[in-house]
Amino acid sequence: MKQTIKHFKTEKLIRDKIPAFLKSRGIQVHAKAIEGLEFISKLKEKLVEEAREVLETSDTHDLCEELADVLEVMYALSSASGLTMQQIEKRRLEKKELKGGFENKIYNSSVLIDENNPDIHYYLNKPKQYPEIHVSTHEPDCIFCKIARQEKETVFFAKFKHCYIIKDLFPVSNGHILIIPYEHTENWFTAKEEVRLDMMKALHLVKEQLDLEYNPQGYNIGANCGEVAGQTVMHLHLHLIPRYLGDMEEPKGGVRGVIPSKQKY
Ligand code: AMP
Ligand code: ZN
Repeated sequence: MKQTIKHFKTEKLIRDKIPAFLKSRGIQVHAKAIEGLEFISKLKEKLVEEAREVLETSDTHDLCEELADVLEVMYALSSASGLTMQQIEKRRLEKKELKGGFENKIYNSSVLIDENNPDIHYYLNKPKQYPEIHVSTHEPDCIFCKIARQEKETVFFAKFKHCYIIKDLFPVSNGHILIIPYEHTENWFTAKEEVRLDMMKALHLVKEQLDLEYNPQGYNIGANCGEVAGQTVMHLHLHLIPRYLGDMEEPKGGVRGVIPSKQKY
């Protein structure tokens, strides 16, 4: 049998015992010791790599694994930079005293700042981290835009990259939720593909959550597009309506009920 050796680029720091471990598994490792500033720079990259892995954890066991990795890199980076963990801990406590910790669980969704305020450069200098929200994408009087801007006190059921989930204020059934893009757009057909895909991903994840919380026996998924179709809030939203055995005498026809006389066929 012909043997094909594949070669992968890795370009990262690895723990001291990993080369021998990989060799024992038949993997050839190209590695060398690095020194000084190069080592420090690669440790910084390693810290970001490990911190990113924290994002992917979904249970406390995995979280513990990843936090242990983060801490190991912190020990190495502080030592390589001539810092002690005691110094870092001291500074941590000072900063906590000054700025507080995260006990109050405060989540900042956006800030409004006068363009003449010198602090504006803090935001302008990091456009990837702090993208400017343009007025055209946020209608001042639209209720779902206001919720997106957190101008209205709202309990979010969940949040995704392009959309947020809230419980409907006048639920059709127990667990009726709305999937709403942050950015103002009138309906499903005017939304960007990226937004629609995120809303569909959200639909599936939230459905699993509703299954656990409400245990319904069915669902209706719906979007009213346009006033003639019954839309009252002119900012795209998908309704996800859990359905329960016996919640209607004759459920046959479901969303066909938008024209009640045509619900049954
Ligand atoms: P429609 O535009 O016909 O799809 O209906 C808008 C939906 O939004 C209705 O089901 C309302 O109950 C719901 N709704 C309106 N205002 C709020 C609000 N402030 N919070 C949550 N749901 C709302
Ligand atoms: Zn809006």
